[in-house]
Amino acid sequence: MGNPTGFKTIDRIVPTDRDPLLRILDWNEFHDHMPEGELRSQGARCMDCGVPFCHTGDLIANMAAGCPVKNLIPEWNDLVYRGRWRDALDRLHKTNNFPEFTGRVCPAPCEGSCVLGITSPPVTIKNIECSIIDRGFEEGWVKPNPPKSRTGKTVAVIGSGPAGLAAATQLNQAGHLVTVYERDDRVGGLLMYGIPNMKLEKWIVDRRVDLLRSEGIEFVVSCQIGVDISADELKKKFDAIVLATGATRPRDLKIPGRELKGVEFAMDFLRPNTKAVLGDSPPDFISAEGKKVVVIGGGDTGNDCLGTSMRQGCESLVNFEIVPQPPMERAPNNPWPQWPRVFRVDYGHEEAATKFGDDPREFAIETLEFIGDEHGNVKALKTCDLDWNQVTEGGPPFVRIPGSERVFECDLVLLALGFTGPEPTIAEQLGLELDVRTNFKAEYERYSTNVAGVFAAGDCRRGQSLIVWAINEGRGAARECDRYLMGDTKLP
Ligand SMILES: Cc1cc2nc3c(=O)[nH]c(=O)nc-3n(C[C@H](O)[C@H](O)[C@H](O)COP(=O)(O)OP(=O)(O)OC[C@H]3O[C@@H](n4cnc5c(N)ncnc54)[C@H](O)[C@@H]3O)c2cc1C
Ligand code: SF4
Repeated sequence: MGNPTGFKTIDRIVPTDRDPLLRILDWNEFHDHMPEGELRSQGARCMDCGVPFCHTGDLIANMAAGCPVKNLIPEWNDLVYRGRWRDALDRLHKTNNFPEFTGRVCPAPCEGSCVLGITSPPVTIKNIECSIIDRGFEEGWVKPNPPKSRTGKTVAVIGSGPAGLAAATQLNQAGHLVTVYERDDRVGGLLMYGIPNMKLEKWIVDRRVDLLRSEGIEFVVSCQIGVDISADELKKKFDAIVLATGATRPRDLKIPGRELKGVEFAMDFLRPNTKAVLGDSPPDFISAEGKKVVVIGGGDTGNDCLGTSMRQGCESLVNFEIVPQPPMERAPNNPWPQWPRVFRVDYGHEEAATKFGDDPREFAIETLEFIGDEHGNVKALKTCDLDWNQVTEGGPPFVRIPGSERVFECDLVLLALGFTGPEPTIAEQLGLELDVRTNFKAEYERYSTNVAGVFAAGDCRRGQSLIVWAINEGRGAARECDRYLMGDTKLP
């Protein structure tokens, strides 16, 4: 630790965001970047604790506490403070294949378990991570690094999201010939078509994919395994398979009026929007322009629907959360180093509040019915408020409050209620076992399924999660796949 008093004398600073009313006029990234001097002094706030928790990556109370890829945070904070950016980059790449993604979109559980955070605002870790890799690219330090020799073994990776890309990168580094199959027309999974451009500009995804291609990984797009090539055929052709197909089945809301036009799944709205931003003319484009939009469900998906509706020029915006509003400070049953379950204002909330005057969220509310017009279009929905201090006998952990029914006018409803696991075709063709949540069954840290030579990683194994967990699992599945192919492994 170069500056032993930095944590006492320097305040936490995070980069400013662009003005909400201006940034909703375009699709560009909304975070500003910090000058080098400020970054170095923020790095000096790191205390290099005897027992740091920021890089533990454990699940506590079902949430990540610390960095799931176990980034060597105190080490690179100190290197940044000293201006040794190249060394910081090398340390970062030891644990994280894609810091340019996590540095932009990770919710930063590391900061929630930073020791300084017990008494003061935590170290600004995520922003420093992003700055290290951005600097690495600017300086030309990030170059293709193909393996020195090849093993002659072949691996098919199905799915090109962060789990598939991380697995492919590691397996290629181990010398295997890797082919990534992606059913979409562009590589990246939810990095490309889930997370919108203003959070992660797509040239950043392409830049990494180009690098991987020049290291020897082959990408086959617009090819759906199970349909264009059967999973059995692939199994015969390759020495091993890594499944990284994501959790792509959206959770539905089967209430009266669900069949009305204008009630859409979030991904059916977000995906063609990104295609349009990238210059395509998707025939399934759904426009929020001039519409009264209701987004049902929070989290990243719900919030991305808010930000996208704002940029498309919606007339009004409401966001329903079934749970009550979280507390402003950690509750006693949510102590450090757990992920802090507190009230947060994300970019979409801020934009809606700035334009329309109020935070768009309605908490502890349930949708009962969609109401249509004579042409079968949704025109309103009916809700009731929930009391979470009482439990419905034999039912959910809340009761409906009698007389609290309300009607909200709307002409576009976006369902952002989460995902229920991977699609079944590949599992059926390979005879894969599923777990109780209908994910591909494979133990964490082992990743092997019941079929020899077939591994599963990321959201298709753990359920809808985070980019950083997908990278962690992709790396782990690569390690176990390499062990299966070679009898031993040097992969971390
Ligand atoms: C809208 C949205 C916003 C999000 N925002 C964030 C965020 O800000 N931060 C964060 O950390 N996490 C975020 N997440 C979660 C994160 O994106 C996922 O946890 C992560 O992408 C999972 O990675 P994965 O590689 O397992 O799967 P995915 O990224 O889902 O990739 C799976 C890929 O497999 C392909 N595929 C599926 N079946 C086949 C097949 N049969 N043949 C060929 N290809 C196939 C799919 O087309 C897809 O490209 C968000 C999720 C959503 C939906
Ligand atoms: S990947 Fe996420 S948890 Fe890990 S250091 Fe970066 S921001 Fe923190």
